[in-house]
Amino acid sequence: MIEGPAAIDRADRADRSDRVDVDAGTDELLRRTAEMAIAYRRSLPERRVGPQPGVTVESLRAALGGPLPKAGTDPDSVIERLAADVEPGLTAMSSPRFFGFVIGGSVPAALAADWLTSTWDQNVALYLATPSAAVVEEVAARWLVELLGLPVESSVGFTSGATMANFTSIAAARHAVLRRLDWDVEDQGLVGAPPIRVVIGADAHISLKLALRLAGLGLGRAERVPADDEGRMDPAALASMLEGRSDPTIVCAQLGEVNTGGMDPIARIVEIVRRHPNAWLHVDGAFGLWAAASPRLRSIVRGHDGADSWATDSHKWLNVPYDSGLAFVRDSAAHRAAMSAGAAYLPPAPGQERDPGDWVPELSRRARGFTVYAAIRQMGSDGIAAMVDRCCDVASHMARRLANQPGVHILNEVVLNQVLVRFDDDDAVTRDVIARIQADGTAWFGGTTYHGTVAMRISVSEWSTGIDDADRSVDAVVRAFEASRSAGPRS
Ligand SMILES: *Cc1c(COP(=O)(O)O)cnc(C)c1O
Repeated sequence: MIEGPAAIDRADRADRSDRVDVDAGTDELLRRTAEMAIAYRRSLPERRVGPQPGVTVESLRAALGGPLPKAGTDPDSVIERLAADVEPGLTAMSSPRFFGFVIGGSVPAALAADWLTSTWDQNVALYLATPSAAVVEEVAARWLVELLGLPVESSVGFTSGATMANFTSIAAARHAVLRRLDWDVEDQGLVGAPPIRVVIGADAHISLKLALRLAGLGLGRAERVPADDEGRMDPAALASMLEGRSDPTIVCAQLGEVNTGGMDPIARIVEIVRRHPNAWLHVDGAFGLWAAASPRLRSIVRGHDGADSWATDSHKWLNVPYDSGLAFVRDSAAHRAAMSAGAAYLPPAPGQERDPGDWVPELSRRARGFTVYAAIRQMGSDGIAAMVDRCCDVASHMARRLANQPGVHILNEVVLNQVLVRFDDDDAVTRDVIARIQADGTAWFGGTTYHGTVAMRISVSEWSTGIDDADRSVDAVVRAFEASRSAGPRS
């Protein structure tokens, strides 16, 4: 704040002598940076997938660390050194042969839109401040609701990821089930509130559990519905847990178990939950909800539109850069009540405008709608369906080829883009194969322990992965398994 003659004097001096020449060298820096980004991108098809051999936490600290710099450095050197120092320790997560976690890369229009998002540097809380960013979100939200087959009245929040989308949905649920008991949770909190029952699947994702903790509902209190071998909630068990009860209840189902890809029988779950007037059904569909965008796969999520809220990720299967998740809530009033902040200096949009900040936990944030909008425009609903189908086809192809190898077992039903692979039916061998394939660098697979059994996980969610990449990767796995076997037994 500028007050009094001294401050005015300071401001005056700053105006005359401290002017920063913002354009000096910036054009060239941005051009060079674009070239570095292009070179990285072009390297992806042949690039080693994991970090460079020999990279350790010590080598990275030695390259990147040091005392707090006192003097500044020119931006060109900063960027050149940053790129050189971090490159060895990067994993090519946008490689067509990266099969770790459930990570998609970025389709070209989304990546380019991401560059512009940073350049435009819009704070997207209010329509008033950035009408274009607000309308892009609104348009993308309508497209997504249609693409994913959700109720048209649903409101949408553009979150940092599915964890915050789960949290946003749970906060809306918490509002709605307590409102029906005349308890205003935004005003009174949960202290002294009527207890809320929370029911989750035995194989619910850790992200959902974190969301329950953040929402003050507690993880230990959540009642678990048994799941089958594929991690799918048992609907009969859910029905008996809810039978004869009328307390406020939040049930969390899942589309896409993170190991197996297993999809909860959502139509049956909807039918069970709908018998209970004060129950809310949330669906964590971080990647599995994208099956709804595919006419071929849609039948496995049929009935999903009967839930109350849905969380998913754009930075997974839609292949936009981080960070980008989506919360959909049918009861938009509950959604807004849970998330809108309201302050005298933040005027609500006067008319029909949508304020992006009303639907997510943050106020100031990146204009996340641009990348999502660009990805949908680039692919269209046909292209998105084709990408989802292709990923599932590649997963099936890899599973089939691996299953033909002696000593290799596929542990799950490959219903989507996830495959669990076990070698010589042995934990130590399986871990060794995973370590060898990661060191080899042709492809990248992670490990997991699913229902007590060690397995290698294959997740196919990268738009650029083709059958050739799948074959090269399977060949590398087979080589790693053979090498492991000839290295002999391990303890
Ligand atoms: C990835 C994932 C999440 C968490 O998503 P983030 O984007 O990492 O926050 C939640 N649930 C499931 C089923 C997931 O696969």
